Amino acid sequence: MRIVILGAGFGGLELSTRLSEEFGDDVDVVLIDKGEGFVFGFSKLDVMFGFTDAAHVLHRFEDCVKPGVRFVRAEVTAIDPVAKVVTTQAGTFEADILVVALGADLHPEMTPGLLEGGHEFYTVSGAFALRDVLHEFAGGRVLVGVTSTPFKCPPAPSETTLLVNDFLQHRGLREHSEVSLVMPLPLPIPPSPQASEAILTAFEQRGITWRPNTLVRALDPARKVAVLSDGGELPYDLFLGVPVHRAPAVVVDAGLTEDGWIPVDPLTLQTRFPGVYAVGDVTSVGTPKAGVFAEGQASVVASAIIATVHNAEPDAVYDGHGICYMEFGGQQIAKIDVTFQSGSRPVGWMEGPDVELAADKSTFGSDRIQRWFGRAWTGLDV
Ligand SMILES: Cc1cc2nc3c(=O)[nH]c(=O)nc-3n(C[C@H](O)[C@H](O)[C@H](O)COP(=O)(O)OP(=O)(O)OC[C@H]3O[C@@H](n4cnc5c(N)ncnc54)[C@H](O)[C@@H]3O)c2cc1C
Repeated sequence: MRIVILGAGFGGLELSTRLSEEFGDDVDVVLIDKGEGFVFGFSKLDVMFGFTDAAHVLHRFEDCVKPGVRFVRAEVTAIDPVAKVVTTQAGTFEADILVVALGADLHPEMTPGLLEGGHEFYTVSGAFALRDVLHEFAGGRVLVGVTSTPFKCPPAPSETTLLVNDFLQHRGLREHSEVSLVMPLPLPIPPSPQASEAILTAFEQRGITWRPNTLVRALDPARKVAVLSDGGELPYDLFLGVPVHRAPAVVVDAGLTEDGWIPVDPLTLQTRFPGVYAVGDVTSVGTPKAGVFAEGQASVVASAIIATVHNAEPDAVYDGHGICYMEFGGQQIAKIDVTFQSGSRPVGWMEGPDVELAADKSTFGSDRIQRWFGRAWTGLDV
């Protein structure tokens, strides 16, 4: 059985780990990624706000040695989902089962003015570069804005806004600064009214302006204003943006997408091509684009592959459940638990925010690095 996994992010790492744990060297798993390593989404914010160093949060793929799994560092340049053949810069790979876990590509250049007049904090390089920008910032109007939907980790813009507020306060810059957030959602976390209320209360207490149901369409760097989807404008001195998300071009060119993303069976993650699965941000499965959901989906695909190898009927189904941690500033962390089950209304609840949940968040990261890379790691050690 030849299993080829495209993308070593949350989804690909979890899937390859499960298969290695189950089969060891008995199954031929190839894991392909063009990057040098994995970085948690939340680590981008940790580096940006100076809580840790860039080198500490990069988990190199060369360290990811697992029985039965061959890691290939290469760009995937073509996918034939019918023949299940993948072309890369390092050669061609034929699969019996193919899993696409290539995530979402980020396109700051698609928002007019963003590259020239603002910053984005969603790519690794963009977030890491902001560390210096923030340290040099002397205060003023800070605008955090989302430029299109869908976007990864819906709580992240709210979290970033609260951390900016904290950052300015610690540096004595908050009093002569303004902090605003422009988001396309009606509430910060729509499935959880409780979490949304806590976030909106935190915004109010800190004097943060919140503009829901709105996108930033463009920046006018000459006038230092953001042009909004409702026709309005907001002035800024420092713009921190969530860039446009798209499925990787190689996935679109392969004919795997509909309306921009790969449609899958929401319970099994199968695409319309036999033997081809897709998990995580690259799909339109119905969950938000977040690592915990990619991981849960990968786990269901792992169970299906394990059953197939054992000549059994796959019976695991995806439950749409995930948890994430959100920083409120002042080392206060909340744990948000949401379920997006196919056919039901999404539901969610929140624990905290409090300082004790920092240990939970740290364990969330360290457990995964231990399982995926086989080494100890503590999120914030420098
Ligand atoms: C600021 C921020 C904070 C976040 N916080 C959280 C959080 O707290 N919790 C959470 O669950 N999620 C969080 N996320 C979201 C999370 O990072 C993503 O949703 C998650 O990584 C998606 O997993 P994935 O496996 O689908 O794709 P990814 O993890 O993006 O992996 C895709 C992989 O495919 C590779 N790839 C792409 N194209 C090619 C190609 N052509 N050839 C070869 N390789 C390719 C990429 O290099 C990448 O390694 C956050 C995101 C951001 C930006």
